[in-house]
Amino acid sequence: MSFDPVSDIQDYLVFGEYGDVNPSITDSSTYTFLSPKKMEELFDHEIEGCFLYSRHWNPINKDLSEALAKLEGAELAQVTSSGMAAISSAIFQLCSMGDEIISGHTIYGGTYAFFKNFLPRFGISVKFININDTDEVVKSISSRTKIIYCESVSNPLLEVADLPALSSVAKANNITLVVDNTFSPLTIAPIMHGADIAIHSLTKFINGTSDCVAGCVCGSSEFIHKLIDINRGASMLLGPVLDSHRAASILKNLHSLHLRIQQHCRNAMFLAENLEGLGIKVFYPGLKSHKHHERINQLRNPDFGYGGMLAIDLGTREIADKLMVRMQEEKVGYLAVSLGYFKTLFSSPSHSTSSEIPVEEQKEIGISEGLIRISVGLDHNIQRTFERIKKCLREVGYK
Ligand SMILES: *Cc1c(COP(=O)(O)O)cnc(C)c1O
Repeated sequence: MSFDPVSDIQDYLVFGEYGDVNPSITDSSTYTFLSPKKMEELFDHEIEGCFLYSRHWNPINKDLSEALAKLEGAELAQVTSSGMAAISSAIFQLCSMGDEIISGHTIYGGTYAFFKNFLPRFGISVKFININDTDEVVKSISSRTKIIYCESVSNPLLEVADLPALSSVAKANNITLVVDNTFSPLTIAPIMHGADIAIHSLTKFINGTSDCVAGCVCGSSEFIHKLIDINRGASMLLGPVLDSHRAASILKNLHSLHLRIQQHCRNAMFLAENLEGLGIKVFYPGLKSHKHHERINQLRNPDFGYGGMLAIDLGTREIADKLMVRMQEEKVGYLAVSLGYFKTLFSSPSHSTSSEIPVEEQKEIGISEGLIRISVGLDHNIQRTFERIKKCLREVGYK
C-alpha cells in the first residue's frame, strides 16, 4: 500500500536536544538571536530550525504538526489550542466579508453554532444542506462560495461523506473542500480522497486520554504558511497556540493511535452487531444495514475497521435517559460528552452535543430523542460489556 501513515509516523524520528528519545519540550515563549540581522530575516520569511516567538512556532509544536501531517498525508500541518480554534482559524483564513460556505447540516454542535450564530457577524454566511445530495451541493454554489465544509464521518448518525464527489465539485468551481476528520483518524484520510484541508480535534481519539483540549489543521504547505504568516495569518493573529507541554504529551499518545483505533474498531463492531441482533436500531458504518456501508468500504484504510463510534435509537428520551444512568452504574462507561477516550462514553445528542440544532431541524435530520451516541472504549472483554448493556436494557424495560 502506498499510503501508510502509521509507518510514516514511526519513521519520523525526532531527537531531543541531548539525544533524548523524545523531543525536548521548549519551556520558552521567546528565543535568542546571535544577530539583529537574522531576526530581521525571520520576520520576512521562515528559516529552518530558527524560532522567533512561541505563538508563531515552537519546536515541539512543529514536531507534533509534522507527525500529524504524515497522519493525513498532508504537506504540512499546524497544531492549535482546540479543535474549534483549528476550525475557526481555517475559516477566517479562507473567507472574507460577503463570502459563503456550504456546509452539511449534521456537523458538530460547536461548529454549527459558530457557523450559524457567529460568522454572520462578520458578513460570512453559511448554507446548511444535505451534503450527501451532490446535486443540492452543486445547486447551492454561488460566485461567493469559498468553502464546502463537512465531516468525513458525521455526528451523531455516522453518515459518511462522498469525498471524491465533493472534491470534484469543489475543484470544478475553485472552492476549498474542508473536512473535519475528528471521528475517523486512520480509518479515513480525507486528503487522499481529494480534500484540500483536514481538521482534527486532537482532544478526541488522537490524544485518547481525555486530559486536554487541542486541535490541528492539515493542508498544503502554502495554506499552512498563510495561516501562520506573521502579519496576515489567522492563526498567528487570533493566537490559539497549543502549550508546548501538551504538544509533547499528545505526540507520545499519537504513537499508540494505530493500536487504539484497532481496538476501538473491534469493540465497536462487536457491540454494533450484537445490539442489532437484539433488534435495536443501530447506526454503525460497519453494519450492512448502514446506508453508507458501501461508501465507507471504498474510502477506508483496510488496515483498520469502521471507527469507534456508534449510535443506538431507543425510541424515547425516557428510556434513553434511564439506560444511560444504569449503564454508568454498571460500569459500562461514563455518561459524558466527548469521544475517543479509553473508556466508553455515552450521551444523548438531542439534548447535549447536537442541542444547538433546533428540534425541528433535528427531526428532519433524523436525530431522535431516544438516540444515544456511544464512543466505545478499549475494553479488554467486550463480551462482558455487552452482557452488562443487555442487563441494563432489560431493567429499563426495553423489550
Ligand atoms: C469535539 C469536536 C470538535 C471541537 O473540538 P474541541 O477540541 O472541543 O475544540 C470539532 N469537531 C468534532 C467532530 C468534534 O467532535
